Parts: sequence; structure tokens; C-alpha cells
Amino acid sequence: MAETATSFLTGFIEDLPDAPASDLEELTEASAAFREQVPETGTPFERIVHQVARAAGKGFTTAGPGYLAYIPGGGLWAAAVADFIATGINKYVGVWNAAPVLAQIEATAIRWLSDLFGYPAEARGILTSGGSMSNFSAIVAARRARLPEGFLDGTVYVTDQVHASVTKSAVLAGFPERAMRVVPRDAAMRMQPEALRHMVRADRGAGASPFLVVASAGTTNTGAVDPLANIADVASEEDLWLHVDGAYGGLFQLTERAHRAFAGIERADSIAVDPHKTMFLPYGTGALLVRDGTRLREAHSVHADYLQDLAEEEEIPNFTDYSPELSRDFRGLRLWLPIKLHGLQAFREALDEKLDLARFLFEELTESDRFELPWEPELSVVAFSYRSHAGDQNQFNRKLLERINASKRVFLSSTMIDGRFVIRACIVSHRTHRDRIEEAAEIIKKAAADLDT
Ligand SMILES: *Cc1c(COP(=O)(O)O)cnc(C)c1O
Repeated sequence: MAETATSFLTGFIEDLPDAPASDLEELTEASAAFREQVPETGTPFERIVHQVARAAGKGFTTAGPGYLAYIPGGGLWAAAVADFIATGINKYVGVWNAAPVLAQIEATAIRWLSDLFGYPAEARGILTSGGSMSNFSAIVAARRARLPEGFLDGTVYVTDQVHASVTKSAVLAGFPERAMRVVPRDAAMRMQPEALRHMVRADRGAGASPFLVVASAGTTNTGAVDPLANIADVASEEDLWLHVDGAYGGLFQLTERAHRAFAGIERADSIAVDPHKTMFLPYGTGALLVRDGTRLREAHSVHADYLQDLAEEEEIPNFTDYSPELSRDFRGLRLWLPIKLHGLQAFREALDEKLDLARFLFEELTESDRFELPWEPELSVVAFSYRSHAGDQNQFNRKLLERINASKRVFLSSTMIDGRFVIRACIVSHRTHRDRIEEAAEIIKKAAADLDT
């Protein structure tokens, strides 16, 4: 079975550069083939893999070099192999003494991430299924640390560029939607720290309990980085928990350029990063880091009689006491093994390359005076629209996106900014290189010229 699966996967990955960037045809038929009664008897493995292979070709080719939509994922082969080993040995790492050395591996991988951000020894973290869950646990930790049990007066400060998972997390954590307070931002889409300070004071004067500010280290829309050091100043003066949502951009910290842009991030109370975005790992790998680890534990640990035989935490954390989860997969190997195999330098260089590629695409499009790119890429998102000679601009750009994606060589997505339809290319995948971005620039320019007649 392993050999058959490996041979399918090798072929799949080798074909990625030539595979269509999306295949959205005959989806109903393709899905209908899988709408069947539960089988009483088995099917030969080869046939099953064949079926799965056909299914895998449908939809967006998220693992391919042309996928520039939303925030691309990765899919390092080494991580897939790590998962194969981890699920094969099926050891449990949620409490340390069940698999002390493997739990140490996971703790070490988390420590490596914490070191990236200059976090102290008492920092703790968890590997989550992604940024949404990291943001959720961060908000729960902040709530527990800063508010009384009756917390409904608590208010959270964000900009309108914050990721929707932050609002969703606040709602899941029990806050009414009115708890979300939207701080003005500047033309570069960054939070205005002085406006934050004024809002916090006014809200407090009106009887609310400001307790949390969520800054973005790379917004999803444009990759804007909030002024973290200034926000950290306000947070410490006003006694707010500072959470940095770095689910998209946080791991660019590995590059010198982003490291400079992120100055002050080490003062955040918590940081969410997504190795399944900016470390090229498969979907399902997020991380939450908390500077004072006891805060994370206080928010997530409860006593259970049937767990009384388990050892108290010593050097190695009982991860379940820091997370909503008890049983789960051994995510640590998926993060640790690729870093061991390739070394951190390989990730640094790959991320630097993505920053260069974004800059290159930005410059290519800027050359034409009909493309509008008001946001210089701080990280690896290039957001643009085209000013057509006539007609509804939003409608034109919607059509332009369709035409770009019809090339099947690249796949982009869009967003709305201040009422404008904006197309975005997000360059993150380890399989995306200069050749594909040159091609993307050509495709985009030609599609716009063809359409604007
Ligand atoms: C992707 C993203 C999230 C959500 O992370 P998931 O891993 O998709 O759950 C949160 N914040 C930002 C800025 C993101 O880009």
C-alpha cells in the first residue's frame, strides 16, 4: 500500500508544474461518483488510489506553483513523510509522560518558533490546526488573564483589515459582536496607535473594559504590517493584552526585511503563526506562542479524575493543559522533521525569494499606468486593480480576474477594499519561482489589454 501511494504521490507532485491551476469542470459528476452506500465488502487498494487520484485533480491546485489565491499552502514532501511516520507509530503526545521524548520533540519545535520572536524561557505554545484555532486560544487566554468571570463589558481593538477568524474567535469566546471595536487605519492599511489610545480611554470612560488589542503582522488583504512597537507602547500603558495575528506573515520573521518591519513583536503577549502558510507545511499546522506560558495554561486546564495517573508537568509541558484538545495527532514531527532535514537557512532563503517575487510582480504591473497598486507590498501580497477606459470598474476587474484564472496557469483571488474590487496575488508556495511569476505578469497584462477594448 505504501509503495502504491508513494508512486501516486511522486507522479502527482512531478506533474504539478504542468497541471491546470484549477479544474472546476464536471464537478457534479466527479462528486456523484462518491455518493454511495457504505460498502459491506472491501475494494482493492489500487482501485481506491486510482479513485482518490481522480478526485485530487479537481478544484484549486493548491499545492502547485501557480496557486496565488487567498494565502497559499505548501505541502513539503518531508512533512508528508513525517506524518506517515507519526500516524504509523501513533504515539500520544498530549501529556508528556505518555511519550516523553516525542513530547520533547514537539516542545523543542515550539521553542524554536519562540526563539524566532525572542520569547523568554517561560514562554509556552501549542501546535494548533491553524490560525483560527490559535487566535481562538489567544483570545481565551487574554480574557482569562485580564477580565473577571463576568466579562461581557470587555472590548477588543482591531482594524477593519483584521482577519475574520479574530471576530469569530471573540464570538466563540463568548463576547457579543459589539465587543469588537474598529480602530482607524492609515492609507497604508496600518492601525493608528494614537487613535487606539483615544478609543481605549473613551471606552473605559463610558464603562467598558478594554482588555485586548489584536495587531496583524501581515494582513490577508494586502500584507500590511501594523506598527507593532507603537501598539505595544499603548498596550502596556493602557494595560491591554497584545496579540499579534501573524498567521499569514509572522514567519517572514525569518527574513531580515520582515524582522525589521516586525520590530516590537517580541513585546506581544501572544503571537499566532501558521507553518502551513509561511513554512510550506501541509494544511493543519498552526502555532500559538504565549510569552508568559502560565497564562495559556490557566485558561486551558481543568481537573479530570480519570487522568489522575498522569504525571504533573515537569520540564516537558502537558500540552493538553495549554489547549482545548486532548487526543490529537502528533503535529510536532511535521514541523520538527523538515527543519532538521533542511535547516532553517533553507526556509530563510525561500521566504526571501517570495519577498523578491512579490516586489518583482509589483514593479512589472506598476510599469503600466493603467494598473493601480496603491499598496507597496510589505510582505508577499500584491494587490492591484486595472483602470479600464470605460464602464463599471469593479465589474471590469471581476471579469479580469476570471480571465486571468481562465489561463489555468495561475489562480488568483480578490477582495473588497473601501468599496473597490481588488485582485490579489499572494506568493507563498515553496514551488512558486521566478518563471511562474514572470508568466503571471504576462498573463495579467495580456488579459487586461484584451478585455479593455
Ligand atoms: C489564514 C489567516 C488566518 C486563519 O488561519 P487558518 O490557518 O486558515 O485557520 C488568520 N489570520 C490571518 C492573518 C490569516 O492570513
